Amino acid sequence: MSRAVFAFSRDLRLSDHAGLAAASRHGEVVPVHVIDPVSAARLRRSPRRAAYYCAAVRALDAELRERGSSLIVRRGNPGQALRALARAVGAGVVGWSCGYDAKSIRRDRDMQSTLEEAGLRALPVHDASAVPPEDAAASHSRGDGYRAFVPYYARWRTLIPVDDVGSASFAALELASEPLPIPEEFGSQAGTDEAVGAAPARAKLAAFLAAPVLQYGAARNVPAAGETSHLSAALSFGTIAAREVVRASCVRAGDPFLLVEERTSLKLYLRALALRDFFLQLAWYNESLAEEPLQAKMRGFTFARTHPHLDAWRSGRTGYPLIDAGVRELRATGWMHPRVRAIAASFLCFDLGVDWRVGRDEWDHYLTEDDPALAAGNWQWVAGVGADLAAYPRIYNPLKQARRFDPSGHYVRRWIPELADLPDAALLESEAARQERQLRLPLFGRTSYPAPVVEHESVARAFLERYAREVRAPA
Ligand SMILES: Cc1cc2nc3c(=O)[nH]c(=O)nc-3n(C[C@H](O)[C@H](O)[C@H](O)COP(=O)(O)OP(=O)(O)OC[C@H]3O[C@@H](n4cnc5c(N)ncnc54)[C@H](O)[C@@H]3O)c2cc1C
Repeated sequence: MSRAVFAFSRDLRLSDHAGLAAASRHGEVVPVHVIDPVSAARLRRSPRRAAYYCAAVRALDAELRERGSSLIVRRGNPGQALRALARAVGAGVVGWSCGYDAKSIRRDRDMQSTLEEAGLRALPVHDASAVPPEDAAASHSRGDGYRAFVPYYARWRTLIPVDDVGSASFAALELASEPLPIPEEFGSQAGTDEAVGAAPARAKLAAFLAAPVLQYGAARNVPAAGETSHLSAALSFGTIAAREVVRASCVRAGDPFLLVEERTSLKLYLRALALRDFFLQLAWYNESLAEEPLQAKMRGFTFARTHPHLDAWRSGRTGYPLIDAGVRELRATGWMHPRVRAIAASFLCFDLGVDWRVGRDEWDHYLTEDDPALAAGNWQWVAGVGADLAAYPRIYNPLKQARRFDPSGHYVRRWIPELADLPDAALLESEAARQERQLRLPLFGRTSYPAPVVEHESVARAFLERYAREVRAPA
């Protein structure tokens, strides 16, 4: 019986797995997971991420054991570890799922060279996105991916729903494995608040599609209303296939009894999944995305690396309740509501004028999800240096956003206990109005919550003036 080694990375499941299906065409699959220095460094950054990952690897091993196999764990240089394993089990092929951020792409390339120099066939496969980058790019004039979401999305819609690509049969070998990873190995004492693995991820998707998705149109904007799918961690570690999420959403969208708003919500949910694929392909075709602005015209525009109020932003004490609530949600849970992410990121880049990479790296210490390509694409987008080709950066007004999306202050009160007892209006007004109210109604007293660290209107306008001077009308 011929054999193929398959190295799991951010694809910790067995079903609907493009890499496994491709490897299994070369024989029974020997499942391995190499904890390499690049992924170990990322896991050390965020204790929650480390805990989630360890639970996902454990769940994968359990799934394999149900099929009479088990996960072989190795630590160290992935090319060398896989070469040795392939030789030990007599495999001629080594497969894995492609990474999309620059560090993973470089690691995969090195791995491929080591394997090919040893006479082994390297088999990298696109698995993370529902639509592989090259499938979408095939019709694109330059064949090198899309830089704008609107045309990408038009193409993407013609390529869904996507089929289940299948799985593999596994070798039952008596091979010694190193121990499964544990959070302490990455300096983490954290646990996971939720069940992790393929079955819980599928259950979460089913629960979301049963009802909450029908309110997604509101939930994606209103942080206190309903729920978004909270699938980002599962998708980033691959405990569920993006193909499966898209397929199931398409089936749900086919329900003839949906009301107009519900149908719109499903469309918006599919659009969010397309945005994920878009950013993955953007990173795939633009390897410098993690460090360099996508837009050439923004490469000479400098953001500051620090600001006297940077620590206030980091710790959720800017005096703008919606931003502070978002940051505190992130620090408490490993996740921040998507709209609040955009508003808090905008505040850092434009109100404080601080570099998007500083913000991205800061949140990376807290996020559970492990998707550097999506972090870079989104931060670039918000900072106005990436794929969003608007003429001027979109600067959010944190008070207006709060009035619009958290009008009764539910979200803010949940995360900022100092403000829990204030009336709605007090949460939504400017500092001047807040002070006046305090003078008129000493009843509210002074809370320990800080006054705004900057005056939004004036710093936002100053940023736009600089932008107009340096970018729109360069000397
Ligand atoms: C400044 C900023 C930074 C971000 N950093 C990250 C990050 O580090 N890692 C990460 O995975 N996502 C990031 N996102 C994207 C998005 O906010 C999260 O994926 C989302 O909050 C996840 O919540 P959810 O699963 O409930 O999403 P839902 O709204 O339920 O969407 C479903 C899925 O679609 C995908 N998706 C939705 N919105 C986006 C988007 N804007 N870009 C890419 N994919 C999207 C996600 O995989 C998500 O799980 C960032 C967004 C912003 C504005």
